[in-house]
Amino acid sequence: MPGERIYLDYNATAPLAPGVREIVCAALELVGNASSVHREGRSAHGAIESAREQVAALVGVSPRRVTFTSGATEAANLALTPCITGPGLAGLDVLILAAGEHPCVLEGHRFASDRVLHAPLTTDGALDLDALRSLLEQAGEARCALALQAANNETGVIQPVRDAAELMHGRGGIVICDAVQGAHRIDCSAETLGADVLFFSSHKMGGPKGAGALVIANAALEIGAPMLKGGGQERGLRAGTENIAAIAGFGAAAAHSLRVRDDEALRQRQLRDAFEAGLKARWPGVTIFGAGSPRLPNTSAFAIEGLTAETLLIALDLQGLALSSGAACSSGKVRSSHVLESMMVAPDLARGALRMSLGEATTADEVVRALEAIGTVVEKMMARRVRSAA
Ligand code: PLP
Repeated sequence: MPGERIYLDYNATAPLAPGVREIVCAALELVGNASSVHREGRSAHGAIESAREQVAALVGVSPRRVTFTSGATEAANLALTPCITGPGLAGLDVLILAAGEHPCVLEGHRFASDRVLHAPLTTDGALDLDALRSLLEQAGEARCALALQAANNETGVIQPVRDAAELMHGRGGIVICDAVQGAHRIDCSAETLGADVLFFSSHKMGGPKGAGALVIANAALEIGAPMLKGGGQERGLRAGTENIAAIAGFGAAAAHSLRVRDDEALRQRQLRDAFEAGLKARWPGVTIFGAGSPRLPNTSAFAIEGLTAETLLIALDLQGLALSSGAACSSGKVRSSHVLESMMVAPDLARGALRMSLGEATTADEVVRALEAIGTVVEKMMARRVRSAA
């Protein structure tokens, strides 16, 4: 409907998925503390355990492997510690960070700075596996973990987690995978990815904000050094009375994702491809970032030369269109994207990068209207540039 807002920023956060609100509201009525032995406590405990089963099903692991946290940021901070042990692994010496990781990984890890190596991306936005091989040579006998996301939040580029895991495992290392953007769009089961540890966020998949999960898929591993110590909840890995409503909603969103994921991926890919075809028809010189790599079906990161994202976003917002420039977590303070920088995108072009990300509620009509709004705003800006240059 003309005049209605169009929300195309699902990679920043998604509206509640169908059925989630009801589950959250019902869980808010649970009076018990999940640690209490009485009936009220057992009901609260039951809600958490159902959610654990639902999240575990999305990842294809036993529910025992799932630890609930306040979100993916907390899970990343918890997982990225040198204190990971297992058979033949008495802690980690080195963390290899893929260059496109989210700030919760790049800044949230708990390794000393001289224990960190950086693995670059290719110009198509995927981890450079040859560079990873060289870094592993350089690391020699050191015990290494690689932090590699399933898919990038800015470009949607799907990362070669399985290939990287084979390389890491071949040298006694492990892979810690941020599956936040992938889990509800592509198969991010622990088996498919081959990752040892994974983490997830509720609000990206249509659950409430404030819940996430750490999954230690490799049952032989143990993560030491929990950050929240206290009452021993979550098997001692994450103390504190659980946010039952958020966790229950997260479970419902995970179950919903598993049901609709494949159909939605197909539908959203068609919409995204139509959007990009529309961009190319209007501006043949438009750059689509990561187009040479497999990408999430819902994401398009693009730039039209000579325009800046900051002004475009404000003008588009006034037109009723919610898009993003780079990662939403860093929007507000607009700074150049470390992801595009690692892909060797020229700084002038990177400054104009916009991200459109679709979701389950997106319609074909919205995509058409989004293209029109972008067309109106871009033509106006180009005309203004021509006038000021004259
Ligand atoms: N990882 C990726 C790839 C993300 O896109 C985000 C959020 O933008 C996060 C991690 C952090 O998730 P949360 O908001 O649950 O802390």
